[in-house]
Amino acid sequence: MSELHKFLFEGLPVRGMIVRLTDAWQEILARRASNTTTGAYPTPVAELLGEMTAAAALMQANIKFKGSLILQIFGDGPVKVTVAEAKPDLSVRSTATVTGEVSADAHLPQMVNLHGRGRCAITLEPAERVPGQQTYQGVVPLVDEHGKPLVKLNEVLQHYMLQSEQLDTTLVLAADDKVAAGLLIQRLPTKGVANLEGTQDSAAAVQGISLEDRIGHNEDYNRISILASSLTRDELLELDVDTILRRLFWEEKLLRFEPQTGMLGPRFRCTCSRERVAGMIRGLGVQEAEEILAERGDIEVGCDFCGKQYRFDAVDAAQIFTAPKDQLPGSPTVQ
Ligand SMILES: [Zn+2]
Repeated sequence: MSELHKFLFEGLPVRGMIVRLTDAWQEILARRASNTTTGAYPTPVAELLGEMTAAAALMQANIKFKGSLILQIFGDGPVKVTVAEAKPDLSVRSTATVTGEVSADAHLPQMVNLHGRGRCAITLEPAERVPGQQTYQGVVPLVDEHGKPLVKLNEVLQHYMLQSEQLDTTLVLAADDKVAAGLLIQRLPTKGVANLEGTQDSAAAVQGISLEDRIGHNEDYNRISILASSLTRDELLELDVDTILRRLFWEEKLLRFEPQTGMLGPRFRCTCSRERVAGMIRGLGVQEAEEILAERGDIEVGCDFCGKQYRFDAVDAAQIFTAPKDQLPGSPTVQ
């Protein structure tokens, strides 16, 4: 079963997390494979999407935020869009749109950054939006500070975390057709609180912080980061969490939290609904909807995340475009 483990390094300003998506990840792949239009993902795309899904779960678990964390890569190669979303209850869903040929040995640049225009966006979407509240979005390119294309997703996200949170972060990610897993190590601010939501505060605080708190200057973090980075892809995919932590940090003192699994842990869940699809059709406008109806008899929309098909015939569509006030003739209207 999929699981999330959180831990602290006792007495040190460093925390960590490991996520292992097994059943959740296998379900995402199985649903895609059973889609007769798209078929299964090419292996490199599945690996990238698995890493994104694991990363989204880790980043969601790492912040205090009531809403969705959405990781997206807008590519300029054969993979147009990849999306992974994690909710505060740790449910995840993800999908990718593949429009061209992906070779078996393709990496990030060949899939999504062919011409250097690929972007990675991190969005925090509040569950209940207060009027005036804005959706937070951070966007980073898929190149390093010298303009060199980044080959691995963890480098892109580390770069983002450093920029947005002003906190050193180490990410190790891996995925195959059974497991999508990730290890996150993050330095905690010794003064004040900085997280994804407090971007401006943390940036402003940079002036007044001690040397220990500056990026790259905490020796404990640096030592633990080097240990974490030594974790290989095969180890992350194949070993259980206890073994990974023992092998990497046997000289450190770890404080472990109760693992989150089952209904408290990461799992696959899609939040699509007929109402949302109806809203989407409303967004198309009555004219376009009528054109589709004239051409095909009904409007059929498939959910990219779970594969569910939603069908609207002419009567359903007419209802979508009927304003609520028109549905109840004679009922009192609010002036
Ligand atoms: Zn769905």
